[in-house]
Amino acid sequence: MSKGIDRLSIRRFRGATTSTELQFDQSKLVAMIFGENGSGKTTIIDAIDLVCNQTAGSLDGRSSTSAKDHLPAIGSVSADIEVELSCGGKIWTGTHSGRKAVVKGSNSPPQVHILRRSRLLRMDENQRASLLQSGYFEGHSGVPPQAYFSEAHLDTFGFCLFLSLARPQSGGDAVIILDDVFSSVDQAHLARIIDRLADESKFFNQIIITTHYRQWRDRYRYLKGPGGSVDLIELHGWSNQGGIRHHRTQLAAEELATLLQADPFSRQAAALQAGILLEAALDHLTLLYRCRVPRTVDGGYTIGELCDAASKLARAIEIVRPTRGGDGVEKTPPETEKMSLKTLLEALASTAFIRNSVGCHFNASGADIADDDVRRFVQQTLDLVSVLVCAGCGELAQRPKGTHYECRCGKLQMAPLQFQS
Ligand SMILES: [Zn+2]
Repeated sequence: MSKGIDRLSIRRFRGATTSTELQFDQSKLVAMIFGENGSGKTTIIDAIDLVCNQTAGSLDGRSSTSAKDHLPAIGSVSADIEVELSCGGKIWTGTHSGRKAVVKGSNSPPQVHILRRSRLLRMDENQRASLLQSGYFEGHSGVPPQAYFSEAHLDTFGFCLFLSLARPQSGGDAVIILDDVFSSVDQAHLARIIDRLADESKFFNQIIITTHYRQWRDRYRYLKGPGGSVDLIELHGWSNQGGIRHHRTQLAAEELATLLQADPFSRQAAALQAGILLEAALDHLTLLYRCRVPRTVDGGYTIGELCDAASKLARAIEIVRPTRGGDGVEKTPPETEKMSLKTLLEALASTAFIRNSVGCHFNASGADIADDDVRRFVQQTLDLVSVLVCAGCGELAQRPKGTHYECRCGKLQMAPLQFQS
């Protein structure tokens, strides 16, 4: 049985003015809770902190707040707080007496370590178990990192330090939580952070991330991270009447497949979503192979320009991946199959205009395009993505390896390494 948190129920606590129920997918070791500022991310983490660590969470150490007055939702009192957490088939309940957290359960709650951005690198040297940090910078040793490192580097440094301390401390039996740890990092940092989390996840029962950083979530959603192994939960705008609202975010390809099957068929929504997913796939291919596209001031390209550039790749690229049966499971003994992009990209070159005509603009010619043609464009986009993305880890082949690129798990390979247009 999985040892991650599988369910959390919150009532009358912080921003949970109405009942909030969260389910975590136990087949995935990493869960991401994405939400804009003020949507309830910290309330969720504080609720876990209350039950598992008996603390006032983000209110701890703030002189302007008190657990008695500010942990309950507006209009409630401490005794009204109800948090229920389920993990590995066991259940714990938590409330607050006004002076301390009160937790009930058959044994100790799960071991949870939480890193909050507000506490990154804020350890007090006079406190027990604090840590003296010393960096090496521009040829000088003994440098306090806070003095010279950029905010993004300090965030990353704190994150790495936390992981390296949490692993031996947990003994492989902990849930770790990163609460809005990164405010903004560049794409190269983000790619390495995603890799590090995927690597570290096997040492913990679960990793829960909260973030307001949409690019991070979209790297999973649009194939540039191992989206197949991350549970994506999205919070909506908070209100006092509605409380914390959320839904499970689908990967972009899953969402498009749902749109394709929807009855009635929303041709405009399907064409628009297919266009975005196709752009993401073509953007990846044309960047990886340094294809020629017309320069623009803002660095943006039309879908037609990307299709033209990618079509030149069509004959050159070959993809090798495990053969799967009709049930989607890899064959035993393992077999591999070779796939070409030629037919797929040629077909899309003649249908990609449907994104603009049906999905983006009002025009008379768009109205003449039949639903079946829109469906064909959507299906072709899904077919291209299903060839480009590993069915195991959910990532595009983007890691150079000898003569080819491969996905995170290495089962999907795309050759050649370079292309001369
Ligand atoms: Zn893979």
